[in-house]
Amino acid sequence: MAGSGNRMGIDMGMRCKQCNQPITSGNITESAFGVFCSEGCKDKYETFVQRAQQLESMRRPFSLSRTLKTFIGKVIVILILLIALGVLGTVMPDIPILSDIVRTVREALGI
Ligand SMILES: [Zn+2]
Repeated sequence: MAGSGNRMGIDMGMRCKQCNQPITSGNITESAFGVFCSEGCKDKYETFVQRAQQLESMRRPFSLSRTLKTFIGKVIVILILLIALGVLGTVMPDIPILSDIVRTVREALGI
C-alpha cells in the first residue's frame, strides 16, 4: 500500500515559489503572490517581496535628490565665487590681475 503518496496529497504540477518544492493538494498554500508549500514559505516570500519593494521605493528618490543636491551645491559655490569676484572688482578696481578676470566674469553674468 502506497500510504506515503496518499498522505502527501495529489501533485498539483506546481512548485513552491519560495523553496521550489512540488505543490500537492495536501500542502498547497495560496496567496496573492502565488502558491507555496507551507505558511512558512508564504510568509518568507511576502516578507522578501515587501522588503524589495521598500528598498526600491527608497532608493530611487534618494539617489535623485542626492544628485540634485550635489549639482545645486556646485552651482551655488560657483555663483558665490563669481559674485565675490565681481564685488571685489567693483570695490577694488585698481588690482590689475583681478580686473581682467572681473571684466570677463561681469560680461558673462551681464552686470
Ligand atoms: Zn516552500
